[in-house]
Amino acid sequence: MSRQKDTRTNNKPSSRHHSQKKMTKYKTTSINKNKYVFAFGRNTEGNAQMRELLGGKGANLAEMAAIGLPVPPGFTISTEVCSYYYDNSRRYPDSLAHSTSAAIKEIESQLGKRFGDRKNPLLVSVRSGARDSMPGMMDTILNLGLNDETVEGLAANSANSRFAWDCYRRFIQMYGDVVMGVHAKSEEDLDPFSCILDIMKKDLKLKSDSDLSTENLQDIVKKYKELIQNRTKKAFPQDVMEQLWGAISAVFGSWRNKRAILYRQQYNIPTEWGTAVNIQAMVFGNAGNDSATGVAFTRDPANGEKLFYGEYLINAQGEDVVAGVRTPNSISELAKAMPKNFKDLEKVRLKLEKHFKDMQDFEFTIEKGTLFILQTRNGKRTGLAAVRIAVEMQKEKLISQQTALLKIPAESIDTLLVPIFDPKALKVAPLIGRGLPAGPGAATGRIVFSSKAAERQTRKGNKVILCRTETSPDDLKGMLHSQGILTSRGGVSSHAALVARQLGKVCVCGASEITVNYEKKILIAGNRRLKEGDYISIDGSTGNIYRGMIESADSEVKKVLEGKSKARRNYTYELFETVMKWSDKHRKLKIRTNADTPTSAKQAVAYGAEGIGLCRTEHMFFDGDRIDLMRQMILAADEVQRRSALKKLLPFQKKDFIGLFREMAGRPVTIRLLDPPLHEFLPNDDAVRRQLAENLDVPFDFVIDRIKALHEENPMLGCRGCRLGIIYPEITEMQARAIFEAAAQVMKSKRGIKVNAEIMIPLVGFQAELKDQLDIVHRVADQVMKKNKVKINYLVGTMIEVPRAAITADEIAQEADFFSFGTNDLTQTTLGLSRDDMGLFYDEYQRKEIYNQNPFASLDQTGVGKLIELAVERGCSSKPNIKLGICGEHAGDPNSIDFCHRTGLNYVSCSPPRVPIARLAAAQAKLRADGLGSK
Ligand code: PEP
Ligand code: MG
Repeated sequence: MSRQKDTRTNNKPSSRHHSQKKMTKYKTTSINKNKYVFAFGRNTEGNAQMRELLGGKGANLAEMAAIGLPVPPGFTISTEVCSYYYDNSRRYPDSLAHSTSAAIKEIESQLGKRFGDRKNPLLVSVRSGARDSMPGMMDTILNLGLNDETVEGLAANSANSRFAWDCYRRFIQMYGDVVMGVHAKSEEDLDPFSCILDIMKKDLKLKSDSDLSTENLQDIVKKYKELIQNRTKKAFPQDVMEQLWGAISAVFGSWRNKRAILYRQQYNIPTEWGTAVNIQAMVFGNAGNDSATGVAFTRDPANGEKLFYGEYLINAQGEDVVAGVRTPNSISELAKAMPKNFKDLEKVRLKLEKHFKDMQDFEFTIEKGTLFILQTRNGKRTGLAAVRIAVEMQKEKLISQQTALLKIPAESIDTLLVPIFDPKALKVAPLIGRGLPAGPGAATGRIVFSSKAAERQTRKGNKVILCRTETSPDDLKGMLHSQGILTSRGGVSSHAALVARQLGKVCVCGASEITVNYEKKILIAGNRRLKEGDYISIDGSTGNIYRGMIESADSEVKKVLEGKSKARRNYTYELFETVMKWSDKHRKLKIRTNADTPTSAKQAVAYGAEGIGLCRTEHMFFDGDRIDLMRQMILAADEVQRRSALKKLLPFQKKDFIGLFREMAGRPVTIRLLDPPLHEFLPNDDAVRRQLAENLDVPFDFVIDRIKALHEENPMLGCRGCRLGIIYPEITEMQARAIFEAAAQVMKSKRGIKVNAEIMIPLVGFQAELKDQLDIVHRVADQVMKKNKVKINYLVGTMIEVPRAAITADEIAQEADFFSFGTNDLTQTTLGLSRDDMGLFYDEYQRKEIYNQNPFASLDQTGVGKLIELAVERGCSSKPNIKLGICGEHAGDPNSIDFCHRTGLNYVSCSPPRVPIARLAAAQAKLRADGLGSK
């Protein structure tokens, strides 16, 4: 896969005049008109609240400088410039060149160095920084300002020419890759710069980069420059200002690279936000053995434990740690290696957490015994860590209960419920290696070595584990497709680990005993060779790697919830319970579930569901003999035949409803009458059709003729939903009878269980349709109640899932006790987009960022959402207390849940496993609506 990068090297700001009208467009959020550059260091102009303008990195650098942490001086070019850049054919505001030069001068005066000076050169880093951090997705350049002359100045100043040439070769490598577009030609290809380095080491029989002498490095620099000249037909730039603008353009350009786009889609980050660019004086962790660089977390990002966590490398630059090129040492070892610096670092750790009131992930460099902090941000963490950190910080009184809830991404609660390997299977599983446990959970799948293979295999329905030496941001797509990620190099803060944790993927990294050979497509573990396609299993909680498939088992929390374990003292379970208890205290939305069987209803109740919001009755007809009876009913030539089949189906339906009512014990149960196009029940295969004819004792031709007669060009918009019950009232009659007879039986049973039935009519668009079906339901209810001498508590309502129903909601509400928004169909009918046929164009739509998110996964709030708001308003105008819910897939999506809360719905109904997520998301929605935290 080729990387898309901006290869412009000389994209200085244009001097062309831009109209004031255009300019003001970008300044609506700006505090200072025409101010695009914000300094930090001696004169700090920003603060942590200015994330929108300065990006997360820039805002926090300013904040750290302001609270007295040792931050090398620098400045931030604001995100407004990024928007300007893209809206003005990649040009910059007129004043930017001047402000940038002035800001460089300010750094020069603070440090007594000069940019481009051959004796005492200032070197800078140029780094991206969006409002929300997007680790590794955009570009970074270090050591900028070096050229054939300044390298000598650096060598003389540091009295270390090896160090200076090492910096220069690193700079050319990064600049050549990021700015000039010299990189591997395909995913299978090796990085051309690394190749030169590796060949040199091999020829000289050297083990590590640090064994290279000054002369070797000078040789490498020469070869790197030749590589750039050959590939780009341009020389590596010697002018430091040209270098600077090339780097700034590359960083802005990287906002729209493929992996950044993919990441934004995954995390719902708007394109309009843009990135800032941070330019900061370099400090050197590679200045000798009294220098180091590292990444640290104020708590453990994998399990949330309150301990100092991180890693460092002596005599190295930051990228070495993050890129996972060398496997670093644990931070605790620094206490021995550099005791004074370790003490300082501990103080920084405490200060950062106290100040930012969240777990921080920070980068540090020690240059000749002096500590510098280069970045801090709220640390990415696993779901488990998110829960633990939030709960423990509340207990430490660092944050309130409300803030704690808002700090847990709602989806992350799911990781407490993820499967683990079956302990019995694990005992006999062949362990083939160990790595670092970097993303918890258990994953089994076929080995793949590239993103492409991961995608190909998952399309075939296979589960895969992506195995790489180390991952780069370009592997994001493959990671998304995989069950888990295994790398042979890199530490717990390597790219693989960071991204996997955030994606909630199982990850084992730095498994140095295994070798990945891309060329031969094999993975070598000891004397075993595994091929692409072979099964492998990884445990991201222990770091263990196993050959073959291993059955996975339920998590401890899940077992406790489902009554399969009594381990209530399990700490993870306690954390889960705490968060759920807090959520229930703060939420207003009720949480129901979509369940069609007593088993899934039971699971949902264990997870906290307060009712069933959708029982799709058609699912009940797929089982065993029922499908034949259902087919008999569908193929019936007349009402008599149909009624005869329905009579046989009635006891099955009744039994199903008894099970549901019993399980739900008085909680509301919404049962939807038959909805799908009937042909969905009919066989396509001739052999099965023949068998059906035999079973029904009818001629084969009769079956074929009926199937033909039922054929529809567009069944999703054909004879389905309430239309079925309108043309075949006997179906509605049978279903209503099954519901009421089941209710009567449950109520009259010895245990006297309460019943709260809500009968739901699907796909209504006209008041008259609803009325037609209501008449049948009420008539049957009266008959059953009279016969059984019971009063059954029931409501009859409708789904709102076609635009006409939303538009005429005032009329429909006159007949309905409740509305439930069927947002799957409502999205389909509003967008004119088949729920089953997005595949052909969806990738292109994503690439062009036409849809921010899949509209069937997260509610299109500005389109479909408007119809929901309209329906709520109109429905309530004619029936103020009408009950309002949602039962489309969106009901389990946190962003959509936020919308449901704001729109005033009473409940959301989602699949059972998503109930805990919905409970937390509902509380967060309420807290946000009350003005706590930002969305
Ligand atoms: C819906 O349309 O949102 C819905 C819940 O119904 P179904 O998905 O069964 O069409
Ligand atoms: Mg529907």
